Amino acid sequence: MTTVEAPETHLRENPFELAKEQLRRVAKTFQIDPNLVNVLSQCKKAVVVSTPVSMDDGAIQVFEGYRVTHNIARGPSKGGIRYHPDVTLDEVKALAMWMTWKCALVGIPFGGAKGGVICDPKKLSPLELQRMTRRYTSEIINEIGPEKDIPAPDVGTDPKVMAWIFDTYSMNVGHSVLGVVTGKPLNIGGSLGRLEATSRGALYCVREAMRKQGRKIEGTTVAVQGFGNVGSYLALFLHEQGAKVIAISDSQGGIHNANGINIPAAIAHKQETGTLAGFRDGEAITNDELVLIECDLLAPCALEQVITSDNADRVKARMIVEGANGPLTPGADEILDDRGVVVMPDILANAGGVIVSYFEWVQGLQEYFWKESEVNARLNDIMTRAFNETWNAHDQRGISMRTAAYGIAVQRVAEATMTRGLYP
Ligand code: NAD
Repeated sequence: MTTVEAPETHLRENPFELAKEQLRRVAKTFQIDPNLVNVLSQCKKAVVVSTPVSMDDGAIQVFEGYRVTHNIARGPSKGGIRYHPDVTLDEVKALAMWMTWKCALVGIPFGGAKGGVICDPKKLSPLELQRMTRRYTSEIINEIGPEKDIPAPDVGTDPKVMAWIFDTYSMNVGHSVLGVVTGKPLNIGGSLGRLEATSRGALYCVREAMRKQGRKIEGTTVAVQGFGNVGSYLALFLHEQGAKVIAISDSQGGIHNANGINIPAAIAHKQETGTLAGFRDGEAITNDELVLIECDLLAPCALEQVITSDNADRVKARMIVEGANGPLTPGADEILDDRGVVVMPDILANAGGVIVSYFEWVQGLQEYFWKESEVNARLNDIMTRAFNETWNAHDQRGISMRTAAYGIAVQRVAEATMTRGLYP
């Protein structure tokens, strides 16, 4: 029996400490009661599970998994499940806290949660991945449920994994429970538009920001880091709107082409081979180089902490849209803010995913499904409203978009906590 250990991590600083620092900064600016800040600095519940799995060669491997709920003052907790070798409990806690703020900012009735398993899904066979998912689901089965905590996809998980979670939960309770998980495949109760929702929301955000600045997406030069669910659709949508996507990357490296990359061809290559490696529509660049490239818009859509106080002064983009959660550290934020770079923060920019997850949950509970145009129109309404609320606070108070977004969100959660009162 072997236990899978996390290799060297992409996390330079402890993400939960950074998330708490962000909260403290915002609480100071928005004068939030320190007693409440103490409550909101901690996660309500963190479960650590051991997930033994029979591998195809007959060996048993044990994977460590987590499910964390940060806060449920505004509704059941909601958050993705990450399969990645670098997952840590503190990373999951930070991601859970950001989910609380995200749901509050966009005004959907959820709290924040997140889950993760330390594993490399690319190295597991489909059957191993399925067994691991089903065992992990069984281990957290008392934590999740449509009125309690609702998982969704994140890095390394996809609709297929959500289908196994849905099935495992449903088999255990004896009937199909559509509302237990979102991001499901369409043929078992997924929502139209969910797959592209995070990127579509980010696109709406970029559109609104450009509108405020009297600019257009057409002709904008863009660099996108990460070419998974969020990065590839965002690159495609921007390409379709006439932007010139000059750089893209995945975990194995990137491509730069000043004349613009053929994004549909890149997506076809990635679908066929599972990687961007070997796609020859430009020169090879590293992920470190990609974030420093000369462009109008930079979209980090992979992992946390890719722009820190070490490289923020060399970022040349004029606008950043955080497709990923936590790609900028507070140190990087300060430098970019001083330099006048507009940063559309994660809890706003990538909220499209949880918004359409909310729609999927509602459709599942009602067993009544909407047209894609209806999903996208409602997403547009919510994103545009949240963007404008954030922009107005940023503009009127002279604070960064991040401080504005976090301030609005933390205030809403603090108010809900006060209204409910502290139990008992
Ligand atoms: P994914 O697994 O579909 O894709 C991740 C991509 O990042 C892959 O292309 C991978 O190769 C690449 N990558 C991994 N390590 C990298 C590295 N070190 N450098 C560059 N690229 C690297 O995951 P996703 O769902 O697209 O999630 C990406 C980010 O967006 C995460 O931060 C996630 O939390 C966030 N997010 C996702 C959703 C969603 O609906 N899927 C919603 C909100 C936020």
